[in-house]
Amino acid sequence: MVKSVIETALDLGTKAGGTLGATATGLRAVLDLAKRPDADLTEIKTRLVDLIDQLIQAKEAQMMTQNALLELQQEQARDQRFADEAARYTLSETDMGGLVYALKPDHKNGEPRHCLCANCFEQRQKSILQRVAHNTLGCPRCKAQVYMDFKESGPRSGGLHTRWDVLDPYR
Ligand SMILES: [Zn+2]
Repeated sequence: MVKSVIETALDLGTKAGGTLGATATGLRAVLDLAKRPDADLTEIKTRLVDLIDQLIQAKEAQMMTQNALLELQQEQARDQRFADEAARYTLSETDMGGLVYALKPDHKNGEPRHCLCANCFEQRQKSILQRVAHNTLGCPRCKAQVYMDFKESGPRSGGLHTRWDVLDPYR
């Protein structure tokens, strides 16, 4: 994706450069024509109109290049945001053999413990797994399910105790 945007920008830049080069050559030719004592004004006008068309094309190519570069910049910013966010998680195995990206304990930032879907994580998408059934976490984005043994101890009113400790990478 990033490569294709760079290629597009380079193609457009080359096109704009080529058009500008041709325009400069054309302008020099028109100047030579104008210097001649028998200068044909009609021909000079026609050539100038063509040159203006070329300049407009070069300007359009330049704007498309700028847009392609802007898109590239935005994509890089998105990648960086994901990389920063991804650094807070670590690949972990649940006690029932499922793979998830668990929040590192020292990166909680006040958030409750949670896990991200490993499938979505590989696609550079952050998707928080939700408890969807007994011993089952589900991904709201790709619908993948991961099994995890939620052993509850004590009444819910006293707090929901689960076996999140099995996901603690530093235990
Ligand atoms: Zn998912």
